[in-house]
Amino acid sequence: QTRQEEHQNCQFYSIKNNDKLQRRLAIKEQLRYALRRGELFLHYQPRINLANNYPVAVEALLRWQNPQLGLVPPTEFIPIAEQTKLILSIGEWVLRSACIQQQIWQQEGLPSLRISVNLSVSQFKQSNLIKKIDKILAETGFNPSYLELEVTESLFVENFDQTIRLLKQLKNRGINLSLDDFGTGYSSLSYLQQFPIDTLKIDRSFLFDVPSNPDNTAVTKGIIALAQSLNLHITAEGVENSAQLEYLKAQGCQEVQGYYFSKPLSAYNLARFLSSYYRQLEETAS
Ligand code: C2E
Ligand code: MG
Ligand code: MG
Ligand code: MG
Repeated sequence: QTRQEEHQNCQFYSIKNNDKLQRRLAIKEQLRYALRRGELFLHYQPRINLANNYPVAVEALLRWQNPQLGLVPPTEFIPIAEQTKLILSIGEWVLRSACIQQQIWQQEGLPSLRISVNLSVSQFKQSNLIKKIDKILAETGFNPSYLELEVTESLFVENFDQTIRLLKQLKNRGINLSLDDFGTGYSSLSYLQQFPIDTLKIDRSFLFDVPSNPDNTAVTKGIIALAQSLNLHITAEGVENSAQLEYLKAQGCQEVQGYYFSKPLSAYNLARFLSSYYRQLEETAS
């Protein structure tokens, strides 16, 4: 889309719409240079196994600090990166950086945790995706069983068979796969059992006010039961309080991720968080 087309698409002029458009254009323009100017970085959020309270994985979450725009949230710039295809180079950078960081933590003596990386639909549609992933794994000498890729249901809307084939190729390498934001897409439940995935991540919108909100609680309970009957692991996203946690435990949810345990943190702060977290676990055990 050219700048002119964007203006034409803006049918109803209002200051608010114009502000939004200006911001979108600025993001689009600035994002082209974000990678080479070193404005992108990753934060990391742990995922906890409820059976023993030990961390099992860490999700890499992209951050962008721009001198003109400030800290832009990924929910704002990732859709634009998708449209402009910048997500291809950015996504590759995320994957490589996450693999390198995981190895640094290991060298620093932290227990090995899986690193989980979000993969966008356009990355997935690249013909050379597998080659690119293999290259990054080879370059970094990364053990694929410590890698998890998070995909969304939208992946299955088109080219169902091709998608399944690609996912199987990833699985054959020992890479773990999870279905992110589960429940927000349109995937037909009858297809779910054909997806070669290991884990369902319940979208955090369903966790809102659980267990006091009856609708959300019913959906959350239903998704957990579904995952169990299909032999999938289940992770709840966006767990913020102990009421949610206790409810999830009672339903048999295995893993959680959320502010209750930790917000996404810089690599340095995550290492500090984990060290003190492991120390506490050992103290309570002894
Ligand atoms: P996501 O993959 O579903 O990541 C989880 C989001 O939930 C993160 O938002 C995280 O900060 C937030 N979250 C986790 N626990 C809580 C909680 O207890 N309360 C609340 N209020 N929020 C919580 P974030 O970091 O803003 O990322 C938003 C989305 O942007 C991600 O959702 C993902 O779809 C996308 N994204 C982030 N990094 C990447 C990336 O490297 N590549 C791609 N393709 N997408 C990414
Ligand atoms: Mg995710
Ligand atoms: Mg999610
Ligand atoms: Mg997501």
